[in-house]
Amino acid sequence: MAGSFDVVVIGGGPGGYVAALRAAQLGAKTAIVEKDRMGGTCLVRGCIPTKALLQSSELYTMAKDGAAFGLVADNVGFDWAAAQKRKSSVVDQLVKGVEGLLKAGSVTSYRGSARLAGKGVVDVGGDQLHGKDIIIATGSAVARIPLPGADLTIDSDQILELKEAPRRLAVIGGGVVGMEFAAMFAALGSKVTVLEMLPQVLAMVDADLVTAYSKHLASLGAEIHTNSKVSEVVKQNGSLLVRFSTGGEGGAVGADQVLLAVGRVPYTQGLEAEKAGVKLERGRVVVDDHLHTTADGVWAIGDVIGGIMLAHVASYEGVCAVENIAGHANRVPDYHAAPNCVYTDPEIAHVGLGEKEAKEKGIAVKIGRFPFAAAGRALTLGQTEGFVKVVADAGSGQLLGAHIIGPRATDLIAEAALAVQNGLTLEQIDLTIHAHPTLPESLMEAALAAQGRAIHIANRKSGLPNPAASGGTSPQGGEVSTPTANMQNRGEKMSAPVKSSSPPPTPSAINPKVLELTKNNREFLLGMHRQMQLIRRFEERAQEQYTKAKIGGYCHLNIGEEATVVGGILALKANDWIFTSYREHGHAIARGVDPKAVMAELFGKETGTSHGRGGSMHLVDYGRRFMGGYGIVGGHLPLAVGGAWAVKYRKQKDVIFCMFGDGATNIGAFHESLNMAKVFELPVVWFCVNNRYGMGTPVEKASAVADIYKKACAYDMESIQIDGMNLREVLLRTSEIVEKTRKDSVPRFIESLCYRFRGHSVVDPDKYRSAEDKEKYRKADPIVAFEHELEESGLADEEYFKNVRQEVDAEVRDVIEFADASPDPNPSDLYKYTYAGQWDNRPELRAERV
Ligand code: FAD
Repeated sequence: MAGSFDVVVIGGGPGGYVAALRAAQLGAKTAIVEKDRMGGTCLVRGCIPTKALLQSSELYTMAKDGAAFGLVADNVGFDWAAAQKRKSSVVDQLVKGVEGLLKAGSVTSYRGSARLAGKGVVDVGGDQLHGKDIIIATGSAVARIPLPGADLTIDSDQILELKEAPRRLAVIGGGVVGMEFAAMFAALGSKVTVLEMLPQVLAMVDADLVTAYSKHLASLGAEIHTNSKVSEVVKQNGSLLVRFSTGGEGGAVGADQVLLAVGRVPYTQGLEAEKAGVKLERGRVVVDDHLHTTADGVWAIGDVIGGIMLAHVASYEGVCAVENIAGHANRVPDYHAAPNCVYTDPEIAHVGLGEKEAKEKGIAVKIGRFPFAAAGRALTLGQTEGFVKVVADAGSGQLLGAHIIGPRATDLIAEAALAVQNGLTLEQIDLTIHAHPTLPESLMEAALAAQGRAIHIANRKSGLPNPAASGGTSPQGGEVSTPTANMQNRGEKMSAPVKSSSPPPTPSAINPKVLELTKNNREFLLGMHRQMQLIRRFEERAQEQYTKAKIGGYCHLNIGEEATVVGGILALKANDWIFTSYREHGHAIARGVDPKAVMAELFGKETGTSHGRGGSMHLVDYGRRFMGGYGIVGGHLPLAVGGAWAVKYRKQKDVIFCMFGDGATNIGAFHESLNMAKVFELPVVWFCVNNRYGMGTPVEKASAVADIYKKACAYDMESIQIDGMNLREVLLRTSEIVEKTRKDSVPRFIESLCYRFRGHSVVDPDKYRSAEDKEKYRKADPIVAFEHELEESGLADEEYFKNVRQEVDAEVRDVIEFADASPDPNPSDLYKYTYAGQWDNRPELRAERV
């Protein structure tokens, strides 16, 4: 057995097999290696067998209570062996199904334990598979703790194989796995005791839901001890005794079986990952935000990378990784709407932010609740316990989270997940017609309740909550504070100058010394890194917003150009002017324009840089001397000449920095502008962001000379070409050129060679570039390259980068929320400030710096 593949996947769980199927769909020759059964933990020992058994226990409970429904059956009993048999047949059927899918999808399956055996090589029991890319999807294993008597306990794998239901079950650990078994055996009549060290079982679930769930469990005779630390498990009189202490007081509980359910740990045994250059951190495989490990061509997904250890997250990551490998998309996993389900009885499910979490983040929220007792469908089912709770942004009404306990909560969460993922508002939910009688109506009612408009329960106070009421309370009890944008305040917003964010504090002079990778320069260097990450995340989310039709017109992203953008712009002084074109959101942010104002402009909102008049292609901030796109493809070059004339005429020492793409160098205005600047010795630095493709044509095919900087030689102009993927080089060399021009007022030319990772605009399907081409440049990613420099010099580590990514992710989320919540421009103001005379009334538009 040996073979060569495009992609080799190690592990056949929901991460691995989904990745393999997606890779094959994308045309990759794919292999998958599994040492046990296809389907992994999820199908064989996790999601599926537990849910099959839970279905049996649910049916048993219903049958016992059947008389009220007219179901008359004497001596209803529970046959554990039959339930086990059914569970096994469900598992077998699904495992076979996965095997069949892999076969039908032309994925080659191998049975055996895989080991990384050098670059691009996977060893399976002495046979070698060669893969251009390898995906580690080896999942997780049961966590063990050094507890005296741990050998007397059983784990989640073993409890699934019990020959009979225990009369008394003690569960150590009140996480999802522990509570699912607790609920199941309590329903089957076992005496269940749960021992949890934390103040709450199901720590990640909203406290309201846990209270309701605990009550239900207590009604089945189960006991939950929180804040309780187990000290040992011992044998006593033929059974087991678990000793624990709660707040210093000792306790003990007898049991026939003790389930140790204290979590799961990433599994890499036998993989020899570190030998192959794959970095591990506390057992988990370290990946970057594209799911690539520290070894070239090796990726990792699912439980083995830690984070959210759930089957659907593993599958989602599998698809992201494969699409990144194929160059089909630049996928950075976005987990903010990953649903979380607990299949207890009653079921629990949640997505997005909880009430407490949102408040901790400083977000003013409004809350809506709807009890299943008021839902027609829940009554017909005879399952009226529980409720739906929604958490929404107080200002915009955007749904931030939903929390459900009750019948089919795990199915109901899908609608809420769709809403959170897509930034839908409470109003959009309640404007959607929900079928009757159904359980999803309860989500709609909760959304209405949050707005004080519930139909099928009494609202505590009539009328709409006033989102502008500072620090008030919503009719449902949720706090409401001043929203991010005040809709009633249009007039004021019109005159409010755009706020500015802060780019890293730049040293007074840029020279090799201040760019050295030393502790002294750490703050500045890390500031630049953060700025690049912020721009990237902003652009990624802008693309999403465009596809949601939040952004109109065109949207040109500069992902991949961050080093060129940040390095180029930080080389300027505050009094210099930037004339730039349409690929400019990142340019504006690098210049310190508030990202909120940039996004609001893209959304066409009043709070945008140009009060929503410019849209995606005309960002202006006079205070920052940022003159956005006035015309497409080089239309702004003559304007830069005009600006330079003005500077020269006023005998100022400012430099005009004119940024444009490679395509602009093919038009007449480019030549005329360079000629004029040279003839009249104007202080312009021409800065060509050569991302190698003018629309869909490679530069060398569209231009008479492949090296664009040589075009400036025609005007006897000093010109240089720089590595635009290298932040420090861009900054240093741009600064040298800018300062020369400041001194002698002679125009100069810089060509910064970079690469755009996305199509020409968001709607460009980007079919003209080969996968190899994209892969080559993806490897030179300017942010990753700079991170390597920082890491090697000991100025930052993976943990730091992860934190930065999380920070900027949260920041950009706020930015989007702000833009979304901002008011539209008032149509009657549309022609205001369009003509020069009106500027007299707008001093901030004439703002001069210094
Ligand atoms: P896994 O499913 O663990 O698959 C990894 C596979 O890799 C395994 O089959 C393993 O044999 C194989 N492997 C490992 N090393 C090698 C090697 N060197 N060579 C070849 N093969 C190898 N999640 C949910 O979303 N919903 C649920 O309801 C749910 N219920 C759960 C209930 C229980 C009791 C448990 C334990 C887990 C549950 N989970 C649930 C979690 C879910 O099972 C995991 O998150 C999911 O299986 C992770 O998928 P994965 O592909 O990353 O890894």
